Amino acid sequence: MTEKLYYADGRLAGFEARVLTCEREGGAYALRLDRTAFFPGGGGQEADEGWLAGQKLLALREEGEDIIHVVEKPLEPGSTVRGELDWPLRFRRMQGHSGEHILSGTVHRMYGCDNVGFHMGEEGMTIDFSLELTREQLLAAELEANRAIWRNVPVRTLLPDAAELARLDFRSKKELTGQVRLVDIEGVDLCACCAPHVAYTGEVGCIKVIDSMRHRGGTRLTLICGEQALLDYQLLHENNARVSAALSAKRQETGAAIERYAADQEERKAEVTRLKRELLRLKTAALKKSEGCICIFEEDMDPITLRELVNAGSELAGVLCAGFAGRDGDYKYIIGSRTRPLRAMSREINAAIDGRGGGSDSMIQGTSKSDREAIERYFAAL
Ligand SMILES: [Zn+2]
Repeated sequence: MTEKLYYADGRLAGFEARVLTCEREGGAYALRLDRTAFFPGGGGQEADEGWLAGQKLLALREEGEDIIHVVEKPLEPGSTVRGELDWPLRFRRMQGHSGEHILSGTVHRMYGCDNVGFHMGEEGMTIDFSLELTREQLLAAELEANRAIWRNVPVRTLLPDAAELARLDFRSKKELTGQVRLVDIEGVDLCACCAPHVAYTGEVGCIKVIDSMRHRGGTRLTLICGEQALLDYQLLHENNARVSAALSAKRQETGAAIERYAADQEERKAEVTRLKRELLRLKTAALKKSEGCICIFEEDMDPITLRELVNAGSELAGVLCAGFAGRDGDYKYIIGSRTRPLRAMSREINAAIDGRGGGSDSMIQGTSKSDREAIERYFAAL
């Protein structure tokens, strides 16, 4: 049986233990120690990471009363080894998990609803509550949970016997058997849990709900705590500062400013569409009927407008209408015809205008590296 040091002291970042057994397991070695501070995972919290006698811990698991530590090289049974936790990782997880208990206990007390699902992920933790909670209710619970952090009350673990357990009112997601471990956050929450927790609520730092949605008749929240919440604030602050500078808006008013900006963009888009239509109408009206080819050169016309203009020109041209957008040496072209098979002609046209492209008999498009003078000369003779 491995003595579980993390049960009594969640703040143990390093420890010494004796190697009891060391067995080959695949390409690695599985060790039993007399005691450990490595938490093997459970209660929604992942297994610790760290080093044992300087070797990276490859895996950690529970087998009955023992905790198996897997490392690459063998360690001598009987020897004393030192274990070191990846403490920043463990502490972040404890901040999150203890924060989750605080918020779940607070929501339970304020609204009488249960935590029916919990998941700890890299992006934050999700909690499923059994009732639909409004934005106002969530904000009130978030504030109340943070007040519990600021009171810095102790977090203790209790190992009650069956009679004591029967008298206690605690939160639990499932029917429990054997010795039940309760995590008691003074005046805030009492919940069955096997994971290590902070010693005082102040260590959680802060709790922030970053998302909520309806889920199976209840509410699914995403929350972050402590260091993760600070890093998130820094990132959001940085982003907000950029929006604030770009829109010349006060930092507390970027939301309204971006909404005004988006509405303004919509108006501009509609204006551009209207102006393009007007331009097309004017350019179309200016086209003159021709027995031969009509050539159109526009520096900055968009392809859709150019295509419509070429379509209109094709009706007026005896041979074809060729539209070019861009500058000498770098044109995009669209050519339309009502009388000639352009597909068959495209090889010859491309050869003449240093171009590439193709299409159908009534319209071809592509690029040209030629200049305006040479292009006009070619089509004039066609
Ligand atoms: Zn828990």
